[in-house]
Amino acid sequence: MNPETPLFPACPVGCPGELETSGIALPEGSLRICPKCGQLLSACSKQWFADSMQEFNQPEGTLPSGKNALRYKNRMGKMLADAAARLDKQPIEMETLDVGCSSGALLRVAGDLGFSVCGVEPATAAATTARTLGFEVFDGLLEETAYADNRFDLVTLFEVIEHLTEPADLLLEIRRILKPGGILLVGTGNGASWTAQVLGAKWEYFDISLHGGHISFFNPASLRLLAKRCDFDVASIQTSKVNFAERKDVGPVAYRFSRAARELMLWPSRWLGKSHDMLATLQKPEQP
Ligand SMILES: [Zn+2]
Repeated sequence: MNPETPLFPACPVGCPGELETSGIALPEGSLRICPKCGQLLSACSKQWFADSMQEFNQPEGTLPSGKNALRYKNRMGKMLADAAARLDKQPIEMETLDVGCSSGALLRVAGDLGFSVCGVEPATAAATTARTLGFEVFDGLLEETAYADNRFDLVTLFEVIEHLTEPADLLLEIRRILKPGGILLVGTGNGASWTAQVLGAKWEYFDISLHGGHISFFNPASLRLLAKRCDFDVASIQTSKVNFAERKDVGPVAYRFSRAARELMLWPSRWLGKSHDMLATLQKPEQP
């Protein structure tokens, strides 16, 4: 395999036709765009991608710290509680798997709430940290775990899908191990957000050197399409947060102004699905 081969010869959501060039110019080349679903795709080579992923195999993984830790705990705790309520189950009855659990941030929140939780993580150093916190973590890819059919009530997939060249393969495997009616929560950035439109190439989420291996940027329509193609029911796709300037790029006055604009546009962006954090609640159909 030639390491210089582009990662995406076609739209990974499964649309037919050629990819086009977007106006978002990055060091590895302009992002490409699927004209059917709007999926944005990195132009980096396979080697570039592999190197950027390796850089992020660190023991601390994605454990949040300081005031972010409390914010993270509240936000994720609410999502988990909502999932249990949707299935009308107590946390202890929720067999839960976090795919791409890194060093165990979400496992810890779920465990504290009483969820029966385990994880899968291919980055060895981060997986080891999660295991030292007392969680059962498989060190590898989900496809290698051979979990039984219909085992889990809930699977969580946060900040993972934007790293994948073949997202449908992973969604189909998750569908297999979910119980009928079981829930898949997918968290990723929104490539069609106002943040992405205003900041363009300056949006840090697009920066493969800051976010190891971010290569595939979904939007509500493309995520819905992928979910449907993998035979999931879409319960909801919600977005939150907007940002119009990265602190490092502007002076203090402009940054303060952008923060005010951010507050003002927060609710409209949520209503219109134009915020930059995206959460999809998908369900495996009850009937096969
Ligand atoms: Zn597409």
